[in-house]
Amino acid sequence: MPGFFDKSIEFLKGVGPQRAALLCKELGLFTYGDLVQYYPYRYEDRTKFYKVNELHEHLSYVQVIGEIKSLQHVGVGRKQRLVASFADDTGQFDLVWFQGANWIKKKLSIGVPYIVFGKPARYGKNLSVAHPEIEILTPNATKGSHLQPMYNTSEVMKKKFIDSKAIGKFQKILLVEAMHHIQETLPEKLLQSYHLTDKKTALVSIHFPKDQDHLQKARYRLKFEELFFIQLQLLKLKVTRTEKYRGIIFSNSDKLNDFYSKHLPFELTNAQKRVVKEIYTDFRSGHQMNRLVQGDVGSGKTMVAFLCMLIAISNGKQAAFMAPTEILAEQHFEGLQEYAKPMGIRVARLTGSSKQSERKLLHEALASGVIHILVGTHALIEEKVRFQNLGLAVIDEQHRFGVAQRAKLWQKNKETYPHVLVMTATPIPRTLAMTLYGDLDISIIDELPAGRKPIVTKHMLDSKRIALFAFLEKEIEKGRQIYIVYPLIEESSTMDYKDLMDGYESISRRFPNQPLSILHGRMKSEDKDFEMKRFAKGETKIMVATTVIEVGVNVPNASVMVIENAERFGLSQLHQLRGRVGRGAEQSYCILMTGDKLTTEARTRISTMVATNDGFKIAETDLKLRGPGDLMGTQQSGALDLLISDLSADGEVLQLARQAANQVLTDDPELQKPSNGHIRKHIDSLKKTAVNWGRIS
Ligand code: ADP
Ligand code: MG
Repeated sequence: MPGFFDKSIEFLKGVGPQRAALLCKELGLFTYGDLVQYYPYRYEDRTKFYKVNELHEHLSYVQVIGEIKSLQHVGVGRKQRLVASFADDTGQFDLVWFQGANWIKKKLSIGVPYIVFGKPARYGKNLSVAHPEIEILTPNATKGSHLQPMYNTSEVMKKKFIDSKAIGKFQKILLVEAMHHIQETLPEKLLQSYHLTDKKTALVSIHFPKDQDHLQKARYRLKFEELFFIQLQLLKLKVTRTEKYRGIIFSNSDKLNDFYSKHLPFELTNAQKRVVKEIYTDFRSGHQMNRLVQGDVGSGKTMVAFLCMLIAISNGKQAAFMAPTEILAEQHFEGLQEYAKPMGIRVARLTGSSKQSERKLLHEALASGVIHILVGTHALIEEKVRFQNLGLAVIDEQHRFGVAQRAKLWQKNKETYPHVLVMTATPIPRTLAMTLYGDLDISIIDELPAGRKPIVTKHMLDSKRIALFAFLEKEIEKGRQIYIVYPLIEESSTMDYKDLMDGYESISRRFPNQPLSILHGRMKSEDKDFEMKRFAKGETKIMVATTVIEVGVNVPNASVMVIENAERFGLSQLHQLRGRVGRGAEQSYCILMTGDKLTTEARTRISTMVATNDGFKIAETDLKLRGPGDLMGTQQSGALDLLISDLSADGEVLQLARQAANQVLTDDPELQKPSNGHIRKHIDSLKKTAVNWGRIS
């Protein structure tokens, strides 16, 4: 039976079919429930009255009591406007109307006390308020001490007189009707221990707060609730999966020990050791592992993955390693091959450009278990690729893979799912990770291998290009190699290709004796490979490229990264690009080239890059600048359609909500206890409507 909040808003008093259609179309509001959750985006303080001599143009909205002293049309034609001189006993300013002047003039009287409300602006020495709200001062008008809710509307709606005020009226009518229908969604115990306002009070206060204090309490309560239910779903998913899917137990680590004692090319960092231990614990737990390893660029995730693959192989299982691009798959293949060969471990590769004849042999070798490790691109998840016994699937650079692809890898085995290790070099702020990957366990490699010199990052103006070239020349003389990267926002952007080609030409002119490499998305993959290999071998000294080199590519001798038009890149992309250098023993540099006119936001990005090498700090700043919806790989995630919470600002509430969700599930995994009745009911009602969190998994 549909409940009160499922009713269509067309039935609300004062709405009707036409306005309902508009509210649906413009704001996506269909039901009573949608409307009541359409929260104000800000509140106007109608508790304070200003004196005219207190006004200045930096105030937002102000309220003033006074009288109109004069009223006249000024200007001609399209510039014609109505100007009223408005004054109290401290001074005077102008009220101005550009539209509806005749109609308004008729309504206004000189010498009558009014309350005026609007935003002051300055034109020359005159202060004025354009299109103010104006009403006659009544004895009651100054008593209404409350914060006025402001709702977003559209131009179309305003033309039909559905403005913020009108929505406020609908809310008032709705809340009166809804009083007996609003149900608590959280257990009494949580309300008490987290000092949360009850749902009814919160909903009333979010629309019509008595004062700041009530408003803050309402916001806190509603944010907590929103985040609590997301976390509860994610954690529940994790619990169910852990219980339902038995994991293959890897108790043998012979190969790992062997490699450790005989072939390990360097001392592991403590962070690498810790993460391998965490994973090994998962392997022996009897549960299927789903773990995310976050580690800044260059932190050595590949070695961690290889060590884990050795454990799988020690137990007679195969491993798959999936990379987002062919170049990367190739590099990983070669890198892993080097480690694997002396161990007698067989590695194969599979990418989009693998030939049919090769594939057939490969399929057989995989199915019979001859191959221990398969490295490749998403060609790995094709139906035809069958393993004899897949024990571990590693996914590198997660942000390029969707969750659906992750799920396909799980299904490579019939009876038991392989363990899944997801690795990402895009540090995700904790708050976001908990929401996006709340169903995964998270390990963090928070340490770079010893001996790395921090990369020196500099901002340089285009006008200093001669100095840049001189610097590059010196570095080449020292035997270093250089990347020069151009933005390529869209594959199809011809302008961007022109930039790249022009750049390539001016560099060849400046360095006539240096062989150059060029790399961009329009090249055939053989040509890309060829160029990449020449550069990796040191045959070319300068690589001119678009962002195709962004992810993972490893050339330790390349120590300078020049980024052209750096203002056009996002922060996390700049950080990824910078991560291509600083991999060898030499001092590395990242040079951000820009013009001299930059937006404030671009300036913040550049100065953040210059100030820090810490990927997590950069990710936090990125989140604040762009908001979570724009972060790499999160665009399609329904997890971020939040009504009231803001992941970049509400980290603390999120922590508490997750903690609460954990407590509830630990105490009552199936949510069967009567005390959790509210929760059960609310989840059911969420399932009926748009299920945001359902899209996560
Ligand atoms: P990422 O985490 O960005 O994938 P890689 O796995 O590509 O980093 O490692 C970057 C470089 O650091 C590689 O050349 C790798 O061999 C090297 N490396 C990894 N771990 C260590 C270590 N503990 N000590 C020294 N070098 C290491
Ligand atoms: Mg890597």
